[in-house]
Amino acid sequence: MIGRRSFVCSLGLLPLVGCAPPPMPTPTPTGREPAGPLARAPLPLGRRLKIVCVGAHPDDPESGCGGTLARYVAAGHEVTLLYLTAGENGIPGAAGPDAAKTRTAESRAACAILGAKAAFVGQVNGNVEVTGASTAQFRKAFDAEKPDVVFTHWPMDNDVEHQAASILTLRAYLATPRASPLYYYEVQTGTQSLGFAPTSYVDISATREKKVEALRAHKSQGFEGIYERHHEKMEAFRGRELGVAAAEAFAALGPDARSGSLPGL
Ligand SMILES: [Zn+2]
Repeated sequence: MIGRRSFVCSLGLLPLVGCAPPPMPTPTPTGREPAGPLARAPLPLGRRLKIVCVGAHPDDPESGCGGTLARYVAAGHEVTLLYLTAGENGIPGAAGPDAAKTRTAESRAACAILGAKAAFVGQVNGNVEVTGASTAQFRKAFDAEKPDVVFTHWPMDNDVEHQAASILTLRAYLATPRASPLYYYEVQTGTQSLGFAPTSYVDISATREKKVEALRAHKSQGFEGIYERHHEKMEAFRGRELGVAAAEAFAALGPDARSGSLPGL
């Protein structure tokens, strides 16, 4: 129940009734507000950047931003695809270790086509966890890559392991002041990514074929079933929004990340 005095205060009549003002944050010695968790130093211009793209499963990073990652490689930057799992659950009828072996090899082939490095966190597809231990495990793999720019799954997703990959990346990102900024990518929008709200677009017209080639390397996943049904249409739609033949879209997190263009491209 709200008292009469509190009710008057809540109406903004503070000076009239002498309500205590709300507590203010302690200012820094310079009089400025303390730096927030998303405040990052700008990336230096002209330096070779380290790009890290996190995906829950083999083929997720390639599906969501393969064209953009190929552009980063073409621009002289270093790219790592960091897979949370090896896709143990992703080949019907295959035992987990066998599926992981096949899909690890497919991921390495896809990364070789993109000119990127493949790295694996070590969680198991079908049993992904977000715990204190798995957060520490993820952060170790993430920090080892020393990322400047980070991509990960948009967190509102129909796949619980995409959600987990997203939140693990966010935790590692917030603990790593070097990395700036964080970009969320979309996969199978409408069936997996939900309510995706892009802030930034990348024209992938020139690198689309390279992305397609990388996705075809995931032979166990059925190219027609995933790319042609979902991502080809998404690229065309994002391309229409940008005014080009094909594009990938991203949602940027951070005050410096809303210019619409990605650092280093
Ligand atoms: Zn996935």
